Amino acid sequence: MTAEPQTRVLPAGPAAIDTAAECLAAGGLVAFPTETVYGLGADATHGEAVARLYAAKGRPAFNPLISHIPDAAAGRRLALFNADAERLAAAFWPGPLTLVLPKRPDCPVSSLALAGLDTIALRVPAHRTATALLTAFGKPVVAPSANRSGHVSPTLAAHVLADLRGRIDLILDDGPCRVGVESTVVALIDEPTLLRPGGLARTAIEAALGRPLKDAAAHIDEEAPLAPGMLASHYAPNAKLRLNAAAPRPGEALLAFGRAPDFTGTTFNLSPRGDLVEAAANLFSQLRALDAVGAAAVAVMPVPNEGLGEAINDRLARAAAPRP
Ligand code: AMP
Ligand code: MG
Repeated sequence: MTAEPQTRVLPAGPAAIDTAAECLAAGGLVAFPTETVYGLGADATHGEAVARLYAAKGRPAFNPLISHIPDAAAGRRLALFNADAERLAAAFWPGPLTLVLPKRPDCPVSSLALAGLDTIALRVPAHRTATALLTAFGKPVVAPSANRSGHVSPTLAAHVLADLRGRIDLILDDGPCRVGVESTVVALIDEPTLLRPGGLARTAIEAALGRPLKDAAAHIDEEAPLAPGMLASHYAPNAKLRLNAAAPRPGEALLAFGRAPDFTGTTFNLSPRGDLVEAAANLFSQLRALDAVGAAAVAVMPVPNEGLGEAINDRLARAAAPRP
């Protein structure tokens, strides 16, 4: 894929669905309609495709993304469903409800799509074109709203084109979206918790569960501090990070970017060739790997603050910030 793809718009239909599935399989970006809004889809298991998705949206930070699947059976291959999850999936899928669940150890979704977390957000959209695409592709598809960061969510293919022309490969046009607001997000990690209000009413969810939802609206606000007991919205490494380091000091491991200084200690390189897409795709898995080898202190080489570098640096700064 080139940096500036030609954006094709195809009316939805069997041939267009096949073209879109092939495009996703090649690591491309495909906007498609769901019942809520048009989503910008990428292969959830393909770290660099996910990185290009963030770049196309111009997101200054890496938020965990929703993995879209054609049915609950596909979801059970990615995440652990408790009784509440089974109940809500049976009642509301397909539909505008996203469930945040513990991911299975063998879950193939890229760590960038999960922002390094052990949980995964899943949704089964209720839209013929979305279902056909997800079924044809056969793998989970991450699909945040198909707009530039900070713009309103698109409910027509024309909105997507106006915002993302030249930044994505393909738009499947199947008319206006029925619901027009994003999905309701519910976490089922311990007590059922409403993370984001959306297209499915809270009361309907509470009726199906037989008990009230807890509130955690604050946790999805990137700037809000985490209250005790709330779900962390991002992976926080155990290692202490020292940013913009030219070289490691004694006792430090190295998280490099581009050409690394001579060093025989523990080293991970976000991108030896200095590529920000590759670095984004490696970021969370390498932070986790540093924890896994027990690195207590890590020197992190500078990452240029352009393009995806802004989001990488945002995440590194949060990872380096002192925690209570
Ligand atoms: P969007 O795809 O832009 O509609 O937004 C996805 C929403 O799901 C955001 O509010 C995310 O913070 C939330 N989300 C996705 N994955 C997780 C997760 N693993 N834990 C908590 N929230 C999540
Ligand atoms: Mg959005």
